[in-house]
Amino acid sequence: MAEEDIKYPVPARLLDPAQCPEPYVKSYEQYKEMHRQSIQNPDEFFGKMATELLSWSKPFHTVRHGGLDHGDTAWFLDGQLNASYNCVDRHAFANPDKIAIIYEADEPNQSENITYSELLRKVCQLAGALRARGIKKGDTVAIYMPMIPEAVVSFLACARIGALHSVVFAGFSAEALRDRVQDAQCRLVITSDQGKRGGKSIETKKIVDEALKTCPSVETVIVCQRTGAEVPMKEGRDFWWGEECSKRMTYLTPEPMHSEDPLFLLYTSGSTGQPKGVMHTTAGYLLGAAATVKYVFDYHPGDIFACMADVGWITGHSYIVYGPLTLGATTVLFESIPTYPTPARYWELIAKHKVTQFYTAPTAIRALRRLGDQWVEGHDLSSLRVLGTVGEPINPEAWHWYNDKVGKGRCAIVDTYWQTETGSHIVTPLPGAIATKPGAATVPFFGIDIAILDPVTGKELEGNDVTGVLAVKKAWPSVARTVYGNHHRYLETYLKPYPGYYFTGDGATRDKDGYIWIRGRVDDVINVSGHRLSTAEIESALIMHQAVAETAVIGAADDVTGQCIHAFVCLKPGVSNHSTDLSRELVLQVRKVIGPFAAPKKIYLVEDLPKTRSGKLMRRILRKIIAGEEDSLGDISTLADPSVVEVLINKVANA
Ligand code: ATP
Ligand code: MG
Repeated sequence: MAEEDIKYPVPARLLDPAQCPEPYVKSYEQYKEMHRQSIQNPDEFFGKMATELLSWSKPFHTVRHGGLDHGDTAWFLDGQLNASYNCVDRHAFANPDKIAIIYEADEPNQSENITYSELLRKVCQLAGALRARGIKKGDTVAIYMPMIPEAVVSFLACARIGALHSVVFAGFSAEALRDRVQDAQCRLVITSDQGKRGGKSIETKKIVDEALKTCPSVETVIVCQRTGAEVPMKEGRDFWWGEECSKRMTYLTPEPMHSEDPLFLLYTSGSTGQPKGVMHTTAGYLLGAAATVKYVFDYHPGDIFACMADVGWITGHSYIVYGPLTLGATTVLFESIPTYPTPARYWELIAKHKVTQFYTAPTAIRALRRLGDQWVEGHDLSSLRVLGTVGEPINPEAWHWYNDKVGKGRCAIVDTYWQTETGSHIVTPLPGAIATKPGAATVPFFGIDIAILDPVTGKELEGNDVTGVLAVKKAWPSVARTVYGNHHRYLETYLKPYPGYYFTGDGATRDKDGYIWIRGRVDDVINVSGHRLSTAEIESALIMHQAVAETAVIGAADDVTGQCIHAFVCLKPGVSNHSTDLSRELVLQVRKVIGPFAAPKKIYLVEDLPKTRSGKLMRRILRKIIAGEEDSLGDISTLADPSVVEVLINKVANA
């Protein structure tokens, strides 16, 4: 049987009440029925869910209005609520001593717990400080913070007074920060003196100072102390967090917000071009985040939820902050990196905090797999129930490693497909209900009416065993409402390409069992002699070779075949990279797994690949290098390590 036909059943342990809490969805049939209701009767389905999962200061009167045709989606009309009340107050009142945040600091011995009642006081004080500095409902505040509890406090303090936050990942350069602050016309910036990551200091305040040289909209900077380092403070503009907050009351009434009032802006990763300032609104977004934590991670009270993303990405927004806290969960905030002080850090963290849900990216899984199994062995990982991945298609090889070495075959693996713009998962398995296939995102989440379209005609491809572009037929609660300040771009990017549909920009297959496989960006599809090949497919074939740690393939122009395949390959440590036999073996591997037409024409053995700061491969840079267009690489400000570009240019030139 081909690998893609094998289904891995729900682990028996998850369905055994003696071992695990009863999953909310326990069978494929139950999933099907709930999904059917969510599509056929969304008003009832989501109306009920919004009443159950969220607290409203004024009930909504209409569940939904508008949609994808006109780009005017609205949910829960006339309802009022406050995101910080939903994430903090109601849990602080019911369970004041419950731990809201486990802060796992860069140095493993510096963890700290923050209870819901402490969180409420901190959020109120910062909210008071923001107000005292003139921030009001509708203003935008930039957050440029390391992974410390004050980052979460900043999100919630903005939400409490109705200010939008625009979080910028604290690994971005001053220029990237400046562009985002200018684009969103931020009035205030929250930052820290420094950050700590993997034992190194990050000069957050210095970077903010540099960026703000050309950001006239910013009047105030609030600086939190992380390391106590001496940093320059600009008179009249910069204020210390501690001093600002200590003057404020520990309770401040939350601002009642309308369902459709904006909650935040967030810029996309920029894998495919200029980042977009995606805007999410209050009720629909919060519901999407909470519903997916409940159903996709099968969250139960008492669970310890650990998402390893940075709060600077949508994954951190939905699955460190808003989703878990809306449900009153304990969420883990991890300041360090998976290899500090050793590559056992994740596994130590899981054992130490008895983590039940663990969520990371394929890039991290591949990196840890590359370093060897010895690091994951010997840790008590028995608390785990659900393991998630997000960000890119996961190669079956990495999936198996995650399932066997981390999950020990007794956890559900959820390969969650979604985007900054979707707010929460849209295609994903559910732990107790969906048998999985390594590399498949499987089935649409509730409310997601998925379609696979013919890329040329835009016609919907019905039935199974079809490949095309992935689209959604109806607006769902957490879909982004606009691109900040540029509704035209929103319409052009998502709604106009295939009128009536939300266009994801990703290619997908629905296989003969009806499962969805994400094939990667539509722009990345390679066409060799009329065969349409996905990068994910070829990369997965290459990584099956035991010497390969990671790879990126792209299409290059070819006189004979239209396009041909070039593969960039990183080897596992200790594998000699001078062997011409190895390149031949790799080509054979692809011929064998996919077919002769997919054989790479060129293989480059390289040390490193161009990735975004969130760990995604930027194939467009490789395409430009191969095409000899190094001088028009486009926006590379989101590249994690710009120096790889030069190395790759030389490599290709000398190949
Ligand atoms: P930009 O839109 O600026 O190019 P980006 O698309 O990388 O940036 P994100 O919103 O962070 O920014 O990423 C969403 C994309 O990540 C999806 O469109 C998809 O290509 C990829 N992705 C996310 N999760 C998965 C997954 N589980 N399987 C396959 N691909 C995934
Ligand atoms: Mg995108």
